[in-house]
Amino acid sequence: MHQVNIKDSDKSFSVGKIICLGRNYLDHIRELGNQVPDRAVIFCKPASSIIADGGKIQIPDYSDDCHHELELALLIGNTGKNIPEADALQYVAGYGVALDLTLRDLQAELKGKGLPWEIAKGFDTSCPLSAFTAAEQVKNPNNIRLMLKVNDEVRQDGSTAQMMRSIEQIIAEVSKYYRLEPGDIILTGTPAGVSRIKSGDQLYGEIEQVGSLRVSVA
Ligand code: MG
Repeated sequence: MHQVNIKDSDKSFSVGKIICLGRNYLDHIRELGNQVPDRAVIFCKPASSIIADGGKIQIPDYSDDCHHELELALLIGNTGKNIPEADALQYVAGYGVALDLTLRDLQAELKGKGLPWEIAKGFDTSCPLSAFTAAEQVKNPNNIRLMLKVNDEVRQDGSTAQMMRSIEQIIAEVSKYYRLEPGDIILTGTPAGVSRIKSGDQLYGEIEQVGSLRVSVA
């Protein structure tokens, strides 16, 4: 079982499900040539995909095109179903820095065949995750900068203000499909700039007010 903590507190959560939003930033939808979705694009990663700050990414030998996607992570603190947007932020216990690592070649192959592509998203080490910052310490999480460097070169630099669905809208929509429980994590999508990572790369992600995450590729 994987535990996550809230910084500067004794609060610890066993991770439940990791629910991820795809296509939540227009500039990223455009860079991959995807359609703008009416309904949120939602998929899950297993808790076993998490690695902590300082960890090593293992790219599986069946892929030659692993991409980084920097994302704001929400840690859910309360149980809720069909949560109204107006109450949604009360369900967030903390905010973290996450990477939604993606085997783009495998995803494209499965997508092309009309098959589910979760194995391109949920492989071991595909979810590097920082410690969480208590929600009350993050002012206006719908307008904070997120930035990712690979080997000191900036690859992604965006703001959660560019999200097509706000955090409140994401929680309302996701909780229609899945009951949210303490320890669940939601990844909120990635801005433009995704690219291939390779053995030896050093990744450094930073989200304003939230914190940072440093991992490397084995
Ligand atoms: Mg993503």
